[in-house]
Amino acid sequence: HAKHGGRNRLAEFVPAMTAATQRRVALERELRQAIAEQQLALHYQPQFDCASGALVGVEALLRWRHPEHGLISPAEFIPIAEDSGLIVQLGGWVLHRACQDVMAWDRAGAPALTVAVNMSARQLREPGFIDDVMRALALSGLAPERLELELTESVLMEDVAGAVAFMQAARALGVRLSIDDFGTGYSSLAYLQNFPINQLKVDRSFVQLLPQRGETVIHAILALAHGFGLSVVAEGVEDQRQLDWLRAAGCEMVQGFLLGKPMPPQDFAARYLSPVG
Ligand code: C2E
Ligand code: MG
Ligand code: MG
Ligand code: MG
Repeated sequence: HAKHGGRNRLAEFVPAMTAATQRRVALERELRQAIAEQQLALHYQPQFDCASGALVGVEALLRWRHPEHGLISPAEFIPIAEDSGLIVQLGGWVLHRACQDVMAWDRAGAPALTVAVNMSARQLREPGFIDDVMRALALSGLAPERLELELTESVLMEDVAGAVAFMQAARALGVRLSIDDFGTGYSSLAYLQNFPINQLKVDRSFVQLLPQRGETVIHAILALAHGFGLSVVAEGVEDQRQLDWLRAAGCEMVQGFLLGKPMPPQDFAARYLSPVG
Protein backbone atom coordinates (compact mmCIF):
# COMPACT_ATOMS: atom_id res chain seq x y z
CA HIS A 1 0.00 0.00 0.00
CA ALA A 2 2.82 2.38 0.88
CA LYS A 3 4.47 1.82 -2.48
CA HIS A 4 1.22 2.30 -4.30
CA GLY A 5 0.51 5.57 -2.40
CA GLY A 6 4.00 6.85 -3.16
CA ARG A 7 3.56 6.23 -6.84
CA ASN A 8 0.26 8.07 -6.86
CA ARG A 9 1.76 11.09 -5.14
CA LEU A 10 4.57 11.18 -7.67
CA ALA A 11 2.09 10.93 -10.53
CA GLU A 12 0.21 13.95 -9.12
CA PHE A 13 3.40 15.93 -8.60
CA VAL A 14 4.76 15.65 -12.13
CA PRO A 15 1.86 17.29 -13.98
CA ALA A 16 1.83 20.11 -11.38
CA MET A 17 5.50 20.84 -12.09
CA THR A 18 4.77 20.84 -15.78
CA ALA A 19 1.92 23.33 -15.36
CA ALA A 20 4.14 25.74 -13.38
CA THR A 21 6.91 25.43 -15.94
CA GLN A 22 4.47 25.90 -18.79
CA ARG A 23 3.12 29.08 -17.21
CA ARG A 24 6.63 30.40 -16.78
CA VAL A 25 7.59 29.67 -20.38
CA ALA A 26 4.34 31.23 -21.62
CA LEU A 27 4.81 34.32 -19.44
CA GLU A 28 8.32 34.82 -20.75
CA ARG A 29 7.04 34.72 -24.31
CA GLU A 30 4.12 37.02 -23.50
CA LEU A 31 6.28 39.48 -21.59
CA ARG A 32 8.02 40.25 -24.86
CA GLN A 33 4.70 41.50 -26.28
CA ALA A 34 3.57 43.21 -23.09
CA ILE A 35 5.47 46.48 -23.50
CA ALA A 36 4.41 46.99 -27.11
CA GLU A 37 0.81 46.16 -26.27
CA GLN A 38 0.80 48.50 -23.27
CA GLN A 39 -0.05 45.81 -20.73
CA LEU A 40 2.60 47.13 -18.35
CA ALA A 41 1.83 50.00 -16.03
CA LEU A 42 3.45 51.77 -13.14
CA HIS A 43 1.63 52.22 -9.88
CA TYR A 44 2.84 54.80 -7.36
CA GLN A 45 2.95 54.49 -3.59
CA PRO A 46 3.29 57.72 -1.57
CA GLN A 47 6.13 58.30 0.90
CA PHE A 48 5.69 60.75 3.78
CA ASP A 49 7.98 62.73 6.03
CA CYS A 50 7.51 61.23 9.49
CA ALA A 51 7.84 64.43 11.51
CA SER A 52 5.73 66.81 9.38
CA GLY A 53 3.43 64.29 7.69
CA ALA A 54 4.16 65.95 4.32
CA LEU A 55 4.04 63.94 1.10
CA VAL A 56 7.66 63.89 -0.09
CA GLY A 57 7.93 61.22 -2.76
CA VAL A 58 6.66 58.12 -4.49
CA GLU A 59 7.93 54.64 -5.25
CA ALA A 60 7.21 53.34 -8.76
CA LEU A 61 6.00 49.71 -8.70
CA LEU A 62 5.56 47.74 -11.89
CA ARG A 63 2.27 46.03 -12.75
CA TRP A 64 1.38 43.65 -15.57
CA ARG A 65 -2.24 43.59 -16.68
CA HIS A 66 -2.26 40.26 -18.47
CA PRO A 67 -5.10 39.78 -20.99
CA GLU A 68 -6.04 36.34 -19.57
CA HIS A 69 -4.49 36.10 -16.09
CA GLY A 70 -5.39 39.61 -14.92
CA LEU A 71 -2.97 41.53 -12.70
CA ILE A 72 0.30 39.60 -12.27
CA SER A 73 2.53 40.47 -9.30
CA PRO A 74 6.07 41.73 -9.95
CA ALA A 75 7.18 39.04 -7.48
CA GLU A 76 6.23 36.55 -10.20
CA PHE A 77 7.27 38.25 -13.43
CA ILE A 78 10.38 40.23 -12.38
CA PRO A 79 12.38 37.00 -11.83
CA ILE A 80 11.25 35.79 -15.29
CA ALA A 81 12.30 39.12 -16.78
CA GLU A 82 15.67 38.83 -15.01
CA ASP A 83 16.38 35.27 -16.17
CA SER A 84 15.48 36.06 -19.77
CA GLY A 85 17.38 39.37 -19.86
CA LEU A 86 14.12 41.20 -20.67
CA ILE A 87 14.57 43.17 -17.45
CA VAL A 88 16.99 45.51 -19.23
CA GLN A 89 14.31 46.66 -21.69
CA LEU A 90 11.61 46.57 -19.02
CA GLY A 91 13.71 48.46 -16.47
CA GLY A 92 14.52 51.10 -19.07
CA TRP A 93 10.83 51.60 -19.74
CA VAL A 94 10.13 51.91 -15.97
CA LEU A 95 12.87 54.50 -15.54
CA HIS A 96 11.70 56.71 -18.42
CA ARG A 97 8.00 56.37 -17.53
CA ALA A 98 8.59 57.20 -13.84
CA CYS A 99 10.61 60.34 -14.65
CA GLN A 100 7.95 61.48 -17.12
CA ASP A 101 5.03 60.85 -14.74
CA VAL A 102 6.54 62.83 -11.88
CA MET A 103 7.34 65.73 -14.22
CA ALA A 104 3.74 65.69 -15.50
CA TRP A 105 2.63 66.16 -11.86
CA ASP A 106 5.10 69.05 -11.55
CA ARG A 107 3.51 70.76 -14.51
CA ALA A 108 0.10 70.26 -12.87
CA GLY A 109 1.33 72.21 -9.84
CA ALA A 110 2.44 69.38 -7.52
CA PRO A 111 5.23 69.85 -4.97
CA ALA A 112 8.64 68.59 -6.15
CA LEU A 113 8.31 64.88 -5.25
CA THR A 114 11.15 62.39 -5.42
CA VAL A 115 10.59 59.19 -7.42
CA ALA A 116 12.12 55.86 -6.40
CA VAL A 117 12.74 53.17 -9.02
CA ASN A 118 13.65 49.55 -8.20
CA MET A 119 16.71 48.08 -9.90
CA SER A 120 17.76 44.55 -10.80
CA ALA A 121 21.33 43.25 -10.74
CA ARG A 122 21.15 42.59 -14.48
CA GLN A 123 20.56 46.31 -15.17
CA LEU A 124 23.66 47.31 -13.21
CA ARG A 125 25.77 45.02 -15.37
CA GLU A 126 24.40 46.55 -18.57
CA PRO A 127 27.21 48.81 -19.89
CA GLY A 128 24.88 51.46 -21.34
CA PHE A 129 22.63 51.69 -18.30
CA ILE A 130 24.09 54.82 -16.74
CA ASP A 131 23.71 56.57 -20.12
CA ASP A 132 20.07 55.55 -20.09
CA VAL A 133 19.65 57.10 -16.63
CA MET A 134 21.16 60.31 -18.03
CA ARG A 135 18.82 60.14 -21.01
CA ALA A 136 15.74 59.62 -18.82
CA LEU A 137 16.67 62.70 -16.79
CA ALA A 138 17.45 64.82 -19.84
CA LEU A 139 14.31 63.83 -21.76
CA SER A 140 11.97 64.35 -18.81
CA GLY A 141 13.72 67.37 -17.30
CA LEU A 142 13.69 65.76 -13.84
CA ALA A 143 16.40 67.10 -11.51
CA PRO A 144 18.83 64.21 -10.76
CA GLU A 145 18.49 64.57 -6.98
CA ARG A 146 14.78 63.78 -7.31
CA LEU A 147 15.52 60.32 -8.77
CA GLU A 148 16.26 57.54 -6.27
CA LEU A 149 17.48 54.16 -7.42
CA GLU A 150 16.66 51.29 -5.04
CA LEU A 151 19.13 48.41 -4.83
CA THR A 152 18.71 45.37 -2.60
CA GLU A 153 21.54 43.89 -0.56
CA SER A 154 21.57 40.82 -2.81
CA VAL A 155 21.91 43.06 -5.90
CA LEU A 156 24.89 44.79 -4.26
CA MET A 157 26.51 41.56 -3.12
CA GLU A 158 26.19 39.78 -6.47
CA ASP A 159 29.09 41.86 -7.81
CA VAL A 160 30.40 44.32 -5.23
CA ALA A 161 33.02 45.99 -7.44
CA GLY A 162 30.59 46.41 -10.32
CA ALA A 163 27.89 47.75 -7.99
CA VAL A 164 30.27 50.29 -6.45
CA ALA A 165 31.33 51.49 -9.91
CA PHE A 166 27.69 51.87 -10.89
CA MET A 167 26.85 53.69 -7.65
CA GLN A 168 29.74 56.10 -8.08
CA ALA A 169 28.63 56.91 -11.63
CA ALA A 170 25.03 57.43 -10.47
CA ARG A 171 26.12 59.66 -7.59
CA ALA A 172 28.30 61.68 -9.99
CA LEU A 173 25.10 62.46 -11.90
CA GLY A 174 23.48 63.59 -8.65
CA VAL A 175 21.07 60.65 -8.49
CA ARG A 176 20.22 59.31 -5.00
CA LEU A 177 20.68 55.68 -3.93
CA SER A 178 18.75 53.58 -1.42
CA ILE A 179 19.26 50.07 -0.09
CA ASP A 180 15.89 48.33 -0.27
CA ASP A 181 14.62 45.59 2.09
CA PHE A 182 17.49 46.44 4.43
CA GLY A 183 18.16 43.83 7.07
CA THR A 184 16.91 40.82 5.13
CA GLY A 185 19.98 40.19 2.96
CA TYR A 186 23.61 39.44 3.64
CA SER A 187 25.35 42.76 3.18
CA SER A 188 28.40 43.18 5.35
CA LEU A 189 28.33 46.19 7.66
CA ALA A 190 31.90 46.92 6.56
CA TYR A 191 30.65 47.58 3.03
CA LEU A 192 28.11 50.14 4.22
CA GLN A 193 30.78 52.73 4.82
CA ASN A 194 32.19 52.26 1.32
CA PHE A 195 28.90 52.35 -0.54
CA PRO A 196 28.07 55.88 -1.73
CA ILE A 197 24.42 55.54 -0.68
CA ASN A 198 21.94 58.08 0.72
CA GLN A 199 19.26 56.01 2.38
CA LEU A 200 18.25 52.70 3.93
CA LYS A 201 14.77 51.24 3.59
CA VAL A 202 13.88 49.08 6.59
CA ASP A 203 12.20 45.92 5.36
CA ARG A 204 8.53 45.60 6.23
CA SER A 205 9.10 42.27 8.00
CA PHE A 206 10.63 44.29 10.89
CA VAL A 207 8.13 47.15 10.75
CA GLN A 208 5.21 44.75 10.98
CA LEU A 209 6.47 43.36 14.31
CA LEU A 210 6.08 46.80 15.92
CA PRO A 211 5.34 47.86 18.57
CA GLN A 212 5.65 44.61 20.58
CA ARG A 213 8.71 43.30 18.75
CA GLY A 214 11.15 44.53 16.14
CA GLU A 215 12.23 47.58 18.15
CA THR A 216 15.77 46.39 18.78
CA VAL A 217 16.49 45.77 15.09
CA ILE A 218 14.95 49.06 13.96
CA HIS A 219 16.74 51.09 16.67
CA ALA A 220 20.00 49.48 15.52
CA ILE A 221 19.29 50.24 11.84
CA LEU A 222 18.43 53.87 12.70
CA ALA A 223 21.64 54.26 14.73
CA LEU A 224 23.73 52.69 11.98
CA ALA A 225 22.13 54.79 9.25
CA HIS A 226 22.36 58.06 11.17
CA GLY A 227 25.97 57.29 12.11
CA PHE A 228 26.79 57.13 8.42
CA GLY A 229 24.70 60.23 7.63
CA LEU A 230 21.98 58.23 5.86
CA SER A 231 18.24 58.74 6.11
CA VAL A 232 15.80 55.91 6.79
CA VAL A 233 12.49 54.96 5.18
CA ALA A 234 10.28 52.42 6.94
CA GLU A 235 8.33 50.22 4.53
CA GLY A 236 5.06 48.40 5.14
CA VAL A 237 3.53 50.66 7.81
CA GLU A 238 0.05 49.25 8.28
CA ASP A 239 -1.18 50.64 11.57
CA GLN A 240 -1.10 53.82 13.61
CA ARG A 241 0.94 52.34 16.49
CA GLN A 242 3.74 51.44 14.06
CA LEU A 243 3.73 54.99 12.69
CA ASP A 244 3.77 56.54 16.19
CA TRP A 245 6.66 54.30 17.22
CA LEU A 246 8.71 55.15 14.09
CA ARG A 247 8.12 58.89 14.52
CA ALA A 248 9.23 58.76 18.17
CA ALA A 249 12.31 56.70 17.23
CA GLY A 250 13.48 59.33 14.71
CA CYS A 251 12.77 57.53 11.44
CA GLU A 252 12.72 60.11 8.61
CA MET A 253 10.17 58.68 6.19
CA VAL A 254 7.34 56.16 6.03
CA GLN A 255 5.54 54.22 3.36
CA GLY A 256 2.74 51.66 3.74
CA PHE A 257 -0.87 50.69 3.34
CA LEU A 258 -1.88 52.82 6.37
CA LEU A 259 -0.84 55.93 4.46
CA GLY A 260 -1.46 54.88 0.87
CA LYS A 261 -1.39 51.82 -1.36
CA PRO A 262 0.32 51.78 -4.75
CA MET A 263 -2.12 53.23 -7.31
CA PRO A 264 -2.25 54.25 -10.98
CA PRO A 265 -0.84 57.74 -11.72
CA GLN A 266 -4.24 59.30 -12.42
CA ASP A 267 -5.60 58.03 -9.06
CA PHE A 268 -2.47 59.28 -7.32
CA ALA A 269 -2.88 62.74 -8.82
CA ALA A 270 -6.59 62.84 -7.92
CA ARG A 271 -5.99 61.77 -4.33
CA TYR A 272 -2.81 63.62 -3.39
CA LEU A 273 -2.29 66.50 -5.79
CA SER A 274 -5.02 69.08 -5.48
CA PRO A 275 -5.44 71.29 -8.57
CA VAL A 276 -3.72 74.67 -8.47
CA GLY A 277 -5.76 77.81 -7.84
P1 C2E B 1 9.78 46.53 -2.91
O1 C2E B 1 10.60 47.39 -3.77
O2 C2E B 1 10.29 46.24 -1.55
O3 C2E B 1 8.36 47.22 -2.86
C1 C2E B 1 7.52 47.24 -1.75
C2 C2E B 1 6.44 46.18 -1.86
O4 C2E B 1 5.67 46.15 -0.68
C3 C2E B 1 5.44 46.46 -2.99
O5 C2E B 1 5.00 45.20 -3.49
C4 C2E B 1 4.32 47.17 -2.25
O6 C2E B 1 3.08 47.08 -2.90
C5 C2E B 1 4.32 46.42 -0.95
N1 C2E B 1 3.80 47.21 0.17
C6 C2E B 1 3.87 48.54 0.37
N2 C2E B 1 3.30 48.90 1.53
C7 C2E B 1 2.86 47.75 2.10
C8 C2E B 1 2.18 47.46 3.34
O7 C2E B 1 1.87 48.33 4.14
N3 C2E B 1 1.91 46.15 3.57
C9 C2E B 1 2.24 45.15 2.70
N4 C2E B 1 1.93 43.92 3.03
N5 C2E B 1 2.89 45.40 1.54
C10 C2E B 1 3.19 46.68 1.25
P2 C2E B 1 4.88 44.93 -5.06
O8 C2E B 1 4.39 46.16 -5.74
O9 C2E B 1 4.13 43.66 -5.22
O10 C2E B 1 6.39 44.71 -5.50
C11 C2E B 1 7.12 43.61 -5.04
C12 C2E B 1 8.56 43.75 -5.39
O11 C2E B 1 8.75 43.65 -6.81
C13 C2E B 1 9.19 45.08 -5.00
O12 C2E B 1 9.50 45.11 -3.63
C14 C2E B 1 10.40 45.10 -5.90
O13 C2E B 1 11.44 44.34 -5.33
C15 C2E B 1 9.89 44.38 -7.15
N6 C2E B 1 9.57 45.39 -8.18
C16 C2E B 1 8.44 46.12 -8.35
N7 C2E B 1 8.56 46.95 -9.40
C17 C2E B 1 9.79 46.75 -9.92
C18 C2E B 1 10.53 47.31 -11.02
O14 C2E B 1 10.08 48.22 -11.74
N8 C2E B 1 11.79 46.82 -11.24
C19 C2E B 1 12.34 45.85 -10.45
N9 C2E B 1 13.59 45.42 -10.73
N10 C2E B 1 11.70 45.32 -9.41
C20 C2E B 1 10.44 45.75 -9.14
MG1 MG C 1 11.55 49.11 -3.51
MG1 MG D 1 11.35 46.88 -0.10
MG1 MG E 1 12.42 44.59 -2.96
